[in-house]
Amino acid sequence: MGRFDGRVVIVTGAARGIGFGTANRFAEEGASVAIIDLDEAAAAEAAGKLSLVDGAKSVGVGCDVSNPESVDAAVERVVSELGGLHVLVNNAGITRDNLLFKMTEQDWDMVMGVHLKGAFLMTKAAQKHFVEQRYGKVVNISSTSALGNRGQANYSAAKMGVQGFTRTLGIELGPFGINANAVAPGFIATEMTDATAARLKLDVEEFRKMNADANPVKRVGFPEDIAAAVTFLASDESSYITGQTLYVDGGISLGV
Ligand code: NAP
Repeated sequence: MGRFDGRVVIVTGAARGIGFGTANRFAEEGASVAIIDLDEAAAAEAAGKLSLVDGAKSVGVGCDVSNPESVDAAVERVVSELGGLHVLVNNAGITRDNLLFKMTEQDWDMVMGVHLKGAFLMTKAAQKHFVEQRYGKVVNISSTSALGNRGQANYSAAKMGVQGFTRTLGIELGPFGINANAVAPGFIATEMTDATAARLKLDVEEFRKMNADANPVKRVGFPEDIAAAVTFLASDESSYITGQTLYVDGGISLGV
């Protein structure tokens, strides 16, 4: 018996990285899973690779989470193809890093659009179903960058915004049987952090080692580390926890 037998889960930005790792953990534990990503072909390919249990289904849906029409169509398609909706993981993300004096308005708007407006639009579309059935779980992906990070004024503001959004969801949706929490990853080895290494003109392995050395547990994180926390917060074991942000970061946010 899996923790998510009979549940339908959406993970955004799940064609790869943390999103895919998380989607796969839900699949292994019995859920039917919708992978939402910008590119429908990549989403469908990833959906086909999930380790589903017998009887569970998956779908890959092309959707831009910052676009309201695209979001509404995607959520309705998932509900009709997978037969409902119980868990939403707002994971889709981008970076457009630059020091403040070089950051463009477009860099700001794009990052806010995907992380913050995207989480808002997806949650608004999902909560209709959650409220009706008096059951739902929202897990938002924040970041240790919420605490401040050089070159990431846009991303840091969006990720701290996600935490405020999560607290408010906890207050508003709790009476309807809905829990909302956030996970704030530290350095996780994915294409996003590999791209940061390239931008800093550093070798990927050297960049990972630098980040491993910087935290108390002396290793980088992997998508599986985030998947474990997200599935806990989306499970019925955590039904008395809401509005919280759990840092999953090898202790880097302890500031030692
Ligand atoms: P990733 O490998 O870059 O994956 C992000 C996915 O989101 C990509 O498949 C991307 O699609 C998709 N996406 C981007 N914009 C989208 C949009 N408008 N609509 C739908 N999908 C969209 O990133 P990751 O490292 O797995 O990160 C996942 C989440 O964790 C993000 O929210 C990130 O900010 C957060 N996070 C990551 C780290 C880390 O160290 N990796 C640390 C803290 C927080 P395309 O490829 O087509 O752009």
